[in-house]
Amino acid sequence: MIYTDTRDKSVKVNFQTAVMNGMNASTGGLYIPVEFPKLESSFINRIPEPSFREVAFNMAKPYVEGEIPDADLESLIIDAYPFTSQVVPVDPVTYVLELFHGPTCAFKDFGARFMARVMSYFNRNENDNLHILVATSGDTGSAVGSAFHNVPGIDVTILYPDGKISPLQEKQLSTFTGNVRALKVKGTFDDCQKLVKTAFTDTELRNKFRLSSANSINISRLLPQSFYYMYSSLVVKNRIPQDSKIENPSIICIVPSGNFGNLTSGLIAREMGAPIAGFVAATNSNHTVPDWIATGNYEARPSVSTLSNAMDVGAPSNYERISAMYSLEQVRSLFASYWTDDEGTLDAIRSCHSNTGYIIDPHGAVGWKAWNDIRGGKMAELINGTLKTDINEPGLTANVPEWGKAAADKKAVGIILETAAPAKFGATVVKAIGREPSMPERLEKVMSLPDNAIPMEKDYESFKEYLMSSL
Ligand SMILES: *Cc1c(COP(=O)(O)O)cnc(C)c1O
Repeated sequence: MIYTDTRDKSVKVNFQTAVMNGMNASTGGLYIPVEFPKLESSFINRIPEPSFREVAFNMAKPYVEGEIPDADLESLIIDAYPFTSQVVPVDPVTYVLELFHGPTCAFKDFGARFMARVMSYFNRNENDNLHILVATSGDTGSAVGSAFHNVPGIDVTILYPDGKISPLQEKQLSTFTGNVRALKVKGTFDDCQKLVKTAFTDTELRNKFRLSSANSINISRLLPQSFYYMYSSLVVKNRIPQDSKIENPSIICIVPSGNFGNLTSGLIAREMGAPIAGFVAATNSNHTVPDWIATGNYEARPSVSTLSNAMDVGAPSNYERISAMYSLEQVRSLFASYWTDDEGTLDAIRSCHSNTGYIIDPHGAVGWKAWNDIRGGKMAELINGTLKTDINEPGLTANVPEWGKAAADKKAVGIILETAAPAKFGATVVKAIGREPSMPERLEKVMSLPDNAIPMEKDYESFKEYLMSSL
């Protein structure tokens, strides 16, 4: 596969270059494949549907062709995914896609574990280790740390702001041993990010060590997230005849979004033939993208903090990919877009629980709220002109997507992406429903491990000295 650049279509690189560079430093653009090959219809229409790993293999294959042989790709996928995504029906037209069955209980495990194994594969003939530096304000660090833990040929240094992340998040970051270490920096997330950025431009350091980053713009984190869209849409398609008996239903994926990497992966799956009619882009009070869809003006802004904090992004990095792949008109016909505030999020946790018995986390709750409104009559009101929309008020934006009529006529089913285990946000869940979600064993276990984080000043010289003496 050839990869090009969102800012310069004359760029042509292979998968290894796109992965190892992360982004194109000379243009500031992001890598995207030049095409999204469709899967065979015999594969997509197979009954029963293929397994998650079969889907993963068949979807990954064209993107690594000529660079990772089939047998290696197959073992890479088996190693990356000892867990899977789970489709849970909660009412006849609503499915929750649980993406939290990986080691850190959040969907980022799907992308990070694939990326880690791909990087290790490309590093296999090098004598020196590859050093990954990552700054985190919470969940990315644990997914990346866990994904690279014990992966051969790679060391990871995670920087996080001391005292500014939750106790559970801190445990998930700081208790690694071996090739993954955490530095608790006396400063903010921005200080952490600055240390990492400075290190990447430090020639002395770069001459001594092979450095790389692992952030969410890497194409090898995005591609694997498309696997669970394909897999779940096939599972749901095959279940609909029993569950809701709707003929030719439109399958809609509702995606709680921050940086919009997850939603971009959904677009890739749809391009590759997944039976997905469209998407709901659901955000919290950081509604940069809904506003863009409503007004046509993209205005990045500082983030505000909310109960769904992994979505607190004011300048979503994958806006650049979405707008390179589609025109605004295409986006408006593919997506409904919706945002809600903290009050709406608590309300959604409550209504999801009382209507279905399902306990949803604050991120998934943003998606539930959007879907519940859309199928509960808001899309019908939008179509017949009785819904007032205002970009400064929570709710739908004014565009009616191509699948809007199907949703208004109750001929649509929703797949809500549940991006984290509710136990990671126990206090918010208790506030909403007065009840503690059950704690997965792997989260309980991490709470009792010793903290190995190394204290670090926020000045670059101390950080550099540490790297020079300990890598
Ligand atoms: C990162 C994250 C999101 C947002 O995903 P994007 O790809 O950045 O849109 C949503 N929920 C949880 C729990 C996350 O960790």
